[in-house]
Amino acid sequence: MIDTILLDADDTLWESQAHFDKAEAAMAELLSPWAEAPVVDERLLAIARQNIAVWGYGVKSFVLTSLETAADLIGGDVPAEVQATILDLGRTLMTHPVELLDGVYETVESLSSQHRLIIVTKGDNQHQRRKIAASGLEAIVNSYEIVIDKTVSAYHEVLTRHGLDAERTIMIGNSLASDVVPALDAGLHAAHIPHTSIWAHEDITTDDDRIVTLASIRDVPEHVASLQEGTPS
Ligand SMILES: [Mg+2]
Repeated sequence: MIDTILLDADDTLWESQAHFDKAEAAMAELLSPWAEAPVVDERLLAIARQNIAVWGYGVKSFVLTSLETAADLIGGDVPAEVQATILDLGRTLMTHPVELLDGVYETVESLSSQHRLIIVTKGDNQHQRRKIAASGLEAIVNSYEIVIDKTVSAYHEVLTRHGLDAERTIMIGNSLASDVVPALDAGLHAAHIPHTSIWAHEDITTDDDRIVTLASIRDVPEHVASLQEGTPS
């Protein structure tokens, strides 16, 4: 029996990575006088990885990483116009409209009649709150959690805070690294719904045979129903 469904947000409920892909392409263009695009991409990812422990995930962290990448590749003072463009990229990322992915609204609404629904997302707290409010889903879901990182212990904390039983809870999301593997390791059920684009930092491959992949969020009700009946899928 599944009574609670945890839903990832970025690239599971709404478009996110496509906006970061655009911002990264803009960074490559901006820094093209100093470095080739693949070098910019590589430095952005390497510096982002170093910065996660300090600045966490999300847009503000992306802006700081971009400023650091610019300083690194320019090798001296970053021109004021380059700094201004990076801040603008951050503003654009923070304020883009929330576009729900295909099938999300009707599926979430239909799941809400029989299940407790909790959005579990990571990233910038203010940005994630704004997106949840703008999504139109806040009135449908029961609650939301904005965690610092999606680790096994973060999933345990979510279970404890909401009084949930791991065996009756499923996590749904587009990232194997954040949504699926740690949730399974925490004893929850989990299902993977790949999205068209994923951040390189989250892009892992695994032959873990516990992983269930669904083509669309529209497949979640049937999958959850199969777990209710005790049918392995
Ligand atoms: Mg996601």
